[in-house]
Amino acid sequence: MFRFWEKYSVSNVRVTSGCQLSCGFCDLWKKEPEISELSRLITTGTYYDVYPRTRWVNLYGGDPFMYDDLRFILSFYQSEGVKVRLWTNGVVSLNAVAEVADVVAEVQVYIPSVCEEDYGLVTGHGSIQEVRDAIRMFKSEKVAIGIHCPVSDSNIGDLPDIHDFAYDLEVPLVFHRGKVSLLNKEQKRLLSRYRRVKGVGVRVDDSLNNHSCKALPTINTHFLACLWDDLVFRCRNQNLI
Ligand code: SF4
Repeated sequence: MFRFWEKYSVSNVRVTSGCQLSCGFCDLWKKEPEISELSRLITTGTYYDVYPRTRWVNLYGGDPFMYDDLRFILSFYQSEGVKVRLWTNGVVSLNAVAEVADVVAEVQVYIPSVCEEDYGLVTGHGSIQEVRDAIRMFKSEKVAIGIHCPVSDSNIGDLPDIHDFAYDLEVPLVFHRGKVSLLNKEQKRLLSRYRRVKGVGVRVDDSLNNHSCKALPTINTHFLACLWDDLVFRCRNQNLI
């Protein structure tokens, strides 16, 4: 009973607009990063003057790994009994993963492509191998983890590879498409088949997030929490995780 209500107690906290990547469709990396005052609020005991008291926090950016005091704020949440769902592009070093693995409840990784060449072209830096290694390490540290992929006309042909990527890593996968989508009927039917046959979550996003990572799904926290539980349930049924 408690767990059911717990997932509806969620707040969204953007820690920084800074990012280690420079995706072609994003402006954030071109600007001076906006950095939140989270660590100051925590140190001065004024966090709850600004943010609500919730059971869960969606922590996002830019990329939260660009925030210098990430471990400090994650430790704060843990000491308060708050679970953190951390949204990242996954281009993080294994040292960075090791530093936060014991203080984060859940990690959600968004990826635009799993093709080595395409990945670098889209994101400007990093490699899909780094993302794969980071996911493996989070898994080995027993951190719950999921993969999210925005789907558009330009990457619809990559869905089999993206599915294989997640399947090989034994990680739940969610495809996202915009409400006003350029996908044709056949492409939408293809997405539905992934949901029905392969247990992939399919999410229709309302709109893009302003001032945050453009690859990040719209964070409607209630919906995402339900989707996530449902997805994990279906993946377990199919022995994927
Ligand atoms: S879209 Fe997201 S991952 Fe890409 S540069 Fe912008 S903030 Fe970084």
